[in-house]
Amino acid sequence: MTQSFFPPHRVLMGPGPSDVSPRVLGALGRPTIGHLDPLFVNLMDDVKGLLQYAFQTDNALTLPISAPGSAGMEACFVNLVSPGDTVIVCRNGVFGGRMQENVERCGATAIMVEDDWGQPVSLDKVAAAFSAHPEASLLAFVHAETSTGARSDVAALCALARKHGALSIVDSVTGLGGIELQVDAWGADAVYSGTQKCLSCIPGLSPVTFSPRAVERIQNRSHKVQSWFLDMQLVMGYWGGSSKRAYHHTAPINLLYALHEALLMLREEGLEAAHARHRLHHQALVAGLGALGLEMAVAAEHRLPQLNAVRIPEGIDDTRLRQTLLQDFNLEIGAGLGALAGKTWRIGLMGQACNRSNVILCLTALSTALQQQGLATDTGAALVAADAVLQA
Ligand code: PLP
Repeated sequence: MTQSFFPPHRVLMGPGPSDVSPRVLGALGRPTIGHLDPLFVNLMDDVKGLLQYAFQTDNALTLPISAPGSAGMEACFVNLVSPGDTVIVCRNGVFGGRMQENVERCGATAIMVEDDWGQPVSLDKVAAAFSAHPEASLLAFVHAETSTGARSDVAALCALARKHGALSIVDSVTGLGGIELQVDAWGADAVYSGTQKCLSCIPGLSPVTFSPRAVERIQNRSHKVQSWFLDMQLVMGYWGGSSKRAYHHTAPINLLYALHEALLMLREEGLEAAHARHRLHHQALVAGLGALGLEMAVAAEHRLPQLNAVRIPEGIDDTRLRQTLLQDFNLEIGAGLGALAGKTWRIGLMGQACNRSNVILCLTALSTALQQQGLATDTGAALVAADAVLQA
């Protein structure tokens, strides 16, 4: 006979999921009601409004896809790409590669714009790609590259797409709630995110938003969307906002309670305050890491505050160190991904996990684990350096 599962209380400072607040976990445990119950339909409207706030958009087609960030990604591609299209895809980490996969599986051609891992997407290279491929109908890129910790310029990239008559698809799975994202002001056409990063909600939902131009392209498709589940024309029947909602799939009801609560918390704090909190704690962490003698992998001007890529010092056993953090401190940080595996750690300061005690815990635990492997570090100096930033 198997037993009930009682996980330990970990502090989640990896690339996501991040710490979920007890308020959100509490919402998750409320009674399940029907997904067409009028009260639930009201909640859906509220979720939509709160998402519009988080995305800073008036887009009517704004909703959480009932599956994780990868499904949001796929929803954007399958609805906006048709067989034979040309799509410019920027790759400066793992997730641009997934975009390429999506484009090719839609029967379209991906023109790849490559940048080194840890660098932002190069505007010049994207401009050159548009000049070489005037037929390109879409530009796709990642706002916050979780695999490297680099941030790209969404406003400038979306403006380039518009200038060339193309739509934009923006991956902001790690961006939303942690750094500025102005969907309307920046002219982004399709943006997807995830709930388990800076929204500090349970994994399993993917907020998406589509501009009126994107909706027009979806409505004028000549080929059926290859995915029935992610066909936005069908999903709109359930989420569309008209008074009569048609059954499409059974919504993950309790997950939506949780998302609603997480979005309420973001709204209560305010986007600007949430961004400022991420910036401040990031600066404190960086100061502390510097005092431990650790180097950041991304140049200061391109760093994401919510995802800190740190170079693993020579001679340190990566796996052993992360095990020490987990076993002795209940602290999870992330390993390097793809080309950066074994070379960096990824320390998340996402959403609720972005707070003073986590910064202090992380510096203390890292310092102790490094000392166990023979590296001389000064824990006190790291804590003083971090606190100096927080108290300034
Ligand atoms: N895009 C980015 C930038 C991500 O960081 C992730 C997940 O880490 C995804 C897409 C995929 O999201 P999910 O794992 O929720 O499917």
